[in-house]
Amino acid sequence: MENLFIPIGGGNEIGASCYLYIVSGKRILVDSGIRFSRKEPYPDFEFLKALAPELDAIVITHAHVDHCGSVHLLSNLYPETPIYTTHETAQLLALMVEDAIKVRYITDRNSQEEWKEYRLLDEALSRVERREFFDRIDLGDVELVLYPAGHVLGASSVAIYYGEGSLLFHSGDISLSYQRTVGRAELPSERASLLVLESTYYYSDRRFKREEDERDFLQTVRSTVERGGKVLIPAFALGRAQEILLLLSEGMKEGLIPPITVYVDGLARDVSTIYEKLLNRSLFNYYVQPAPTYQGLSFEEVCRENLREADCILSTSGMLVEGTPSFIYSKLLARDSKSSIIFSGYMAEESFGYKLLNSKELLSAFKCKIEKHHLSAHSDRIELEEILETLNPRKTYFIHGYPNGEARKYHAFNREVVRF
Ligand SMILES: [Zn+2]
Ligand SMILES: [Zn+2]
Repeated sequence: MENLFIPIGGGNEIGASCYLYIVSGKRILVDSGIRFSRKEPYPDFEFLKALAPELDAIVITHAHVDHCGSVHLLSNLYPETPIYTTHETAQLLALMVEDAIKVRYITDRNSQEEWKEYRLLDEALSRVERREFFDRIDLGDVELVLYPAGHVLGASSVAIYYGEGSLLFHSGDISLSYQRTVGRAELPSERASLLVLESTYYYSDRRFKREEDERDFLQTVRSTVERGGKVLIPAFALGRAQEILLLLSEGMKEGLIPPITVYVDGLARDVSTIYEKLLNRSLFNYYVQPAPTYQGLSFEEVCRENLREADCILSTSGMLVEGTPSFIYSKLLARDSKSSIIFSGYMAEESFGYKLLNSKELLSAFKCKIEKHHLSAHSDRIELEEILETLNPRKTYFIHGYPNGEARKYHAFNREVVRF
């Protein structure tokens, strides 16, 4: 029997992750994300439906919206199909998808379409089957096992066992480095027949030096507060924000930065509260607090008030998407030459953050300091090569990246049919 792998979205791009596997006659769909662009936000569901009128399993690897933001629309197309994911991802997913819907209808609040999406999300959540890492999910001729992928809380890789002990390994977003809130990825001991590997940083020569990068990050915070400025840290709500708030707390404890008040705002505040429950550990303390909310003030007035009280604001979105809290904070700080905005991660080309970092004109309108420090939850190229070496696959395809150079020929593009 011929086995197939087809990226429906998220092949030669970061966004709208959605991968169809047809293995020993079983149809398994991994992830259903969204793109950052408003023009074409979803994977090509029509194409998917034509290839697979029915699905045997849907797996969601983790709760970043580029992997789960359209799960309710997908599930509506396949209402009989269970959605497998980890306990942690199941909890985070509800909040993340709801927020993605809210952002999408930001100019069309309370429309019928918006409410329909919340209803579809409720229905999709009722189809979620929570599984522990390493549980065996039996689909008949095929078995699925979720492996810890590091990256963010609850993130998994998907091992698909088929035929006479063959293994297909889909890495999902993966990190071999230990982080403060999550351990490193674990890999199966068997040799993989097919490895489908994320390549966010495969095409970049950048080597992550976490300790050095963290020290530089704290140094920027320190010098900003010492000259009397405020620090804005736009951060991804899930994973990055929690890592940074722990880094700031540790930095204060170790005397690398002075004791400062940090407010955590936007979706990052809500995700941090879920993280506290899931990790059974407090992330907030006397210095690092959820940003207060006020009745009867406009959002901009709330931001002004928070900037008066706190030395540092950690807020979503990480890419300064227009209309989000971090974008409003950045406008308020733009003219203050003592203050700093510190970016810490991936920036989509459509985002205001990307434009700011890449346009001299925009940059010159900002009097505050703009810095970019690299704190990543993805493997760099060296780590990805380590995964390749460990799994020693017969065949490898890269996904979730922008291919260039020689390695391009190992990259699976959207709609490409891979036979194995
Ligand atoms: Zn991710
Ligand atoms: Zn991703």
